[in-house]
Amino acid sequence: MQSMKPHAVLLASPGMGHLIPVLELGKRLVSHHGFNVTIFVVTTDTSVSQSQLQNLSQTSNLIEVVLLPPVDISGQVDQTTSILSQIAMMMREALPSLRSAILAMKIPPIALIVDMFGTEAFAIADEFMMLKYVFITSNAWFLALTVYAPTLDKEVEDDLVYNQKPLLIPGCKPICFVDSFEPIRRPNNQVYKQDYLRMGTKISTADGILVNTFYELESQTLAALNDKIKLGMVANAPVYPIGPLVRPVDSGVRSEVLTWLDMQPKESIIYVSFGSGGTLSAKQSIELAWGLEKSQQRFIWVVRPPVENDSAATVLKTSNGCHDSPSYLPDGFLNRTSKNGLVVPIWAPQAEILSHPSIGGFLSHCGWNSSLESIVNGVPMIVWPLFAEQKMNATMLTEHIGVATRSKLLPSQDVIERSEIDAMVRMIMVDKAGEAIRARVKMLKSCAEKALSKDGSSYSSLAKVAKDCEINLQRQNAKTGA
Ligand code: UDP
Repeated sequence: MQSMKPHAVLLASPGMGHLIPVLELGKRLVSHHGFNVTIFVVTTDTSVSQSQLQNLSQTSNLIEVVLLPPVDISGQVDQTTSILSQIAMMMREALPSLRSAILAMKIPPIALIVDMFGTEAFAIADEFMMLKYVFITSNAWFLALTVYAPTLDKEVEDDLVYNQKPLLIPGCKPICFVDSFEPIRRPNNQVYKQDYLRMGTKISTADGILVNTFYELESQTLAALNDKIKLGMVANAPVYPIGPLVRPVDSGVRSEVLTWLDMQPKESIIYVSFGSGGTLSAKQSIELAWGLEKSQQRFIWVVRPPVENDSAATVLKTSNGCHDSPSYLPDGFLNRTSKNGLVVPIWAPQAEILSHPSIGGFLSHCGWNSSLESIVNGVPMIVWPLFAEQKMNATMLTEHIGVATRSKLLPSQDVIERSEIDAMVRMIMVDKAGEAIRARVKMLKSCAEKALSKDGSSYSSLAKVAKDCEINLQRQNAKTGA
């Protein structure tokens, strides 16, 4: 017997970039659509620090956040195992504890909502007669590629990989070879590719696909996904744009960075950050430092020790910790820029920083959460993609949406030079050439607000999902005579 309120279980895969939007979705289901929500979080002991998680879950006392027992995949991975495959393995390992947790609930929940990595849990949803949804924490263009990829025949794949032709997806903007998602670009890593294709196939078996985007941002792709003679044929489930769901500003957060920002002129600061785990090489870190210094713009830079040949080196290893004064920056950099710049080791309160009126630009690895956080605050971007689907995001933000600029670096070059960094920073912050970008992102900021407000496009999309859950709940209650 179900209670009168629909109860949804959400499953978040490891990594802050996945957990943050899942928590926000949970909060919206509770506060706007009358749900009870339980969020299960898959962790390894290093994937999410306890204090970060506590801070995040405290933001709503209406949601139960449960850490599943940590999973250990150390025996299954080696240096070549991609992050995507590692997350897929962790999710698989966590299935028995998820099943026990649902089994232990007095009343089975009405819906299971998993992120892209959690679709293997659909079997559990079937067992307990729950509706099953996927929440794509990236954008609709990436979803389009993911559901379309399993249908590619050998010829198209060869054209893409060996002849480097753009990939045409029905009704969507084509994807250039260099931008395409890594498992497709590097078919030699079969495990990686198979894990990705399996996710694409499974996503299409959901009762609905929720995406962290909004109609005004990706109208063409969303129309194609919901069109039965275009991508709807493979997506095979209704697609609901429900975003942008981003972590709200916590007005209780106080930090040295925010105090410093309070003293700076309006829109004068460029914020530089590569997400929860992105890293640069030593050479690139030095060029970036010189580029920022040359631009003479004020900045906040979240720094991490350099890592060679692996821009995702610290993904899944998020820490709160500080490290000593960053010795890898050019000699005297910190002294010379001490009036104009602030260097923050490892982690900064990004949501609070981006919403501060002194911020005028964001140099970002363009993870999707960071991209949305920039848009909702009307902050123009310099996109600097590192891994995962970030190259697609960069192209979308620059060419389709027009809220960013990026380096003209050729794939054969590996370091963006200081002169180009200097030019990009000035372009986005002050030059006349950046005016259209600055105006466009402010316009999209208000579209985002409208989409989420009552009866806006994203609000209505989630209301449809909620309605389906309620109907199902009533049906089940009728069956059991509740
Ligand atoms: N974040 C933060 N402080 C940092 C770095 C990241 O608060 O120093 C947050 C950021 O606001 C965003 C998330 O972590 O919500 C990063 O997600 P994104 O999708 O941008 O990138 P990922 O970390 O998954 O590569």
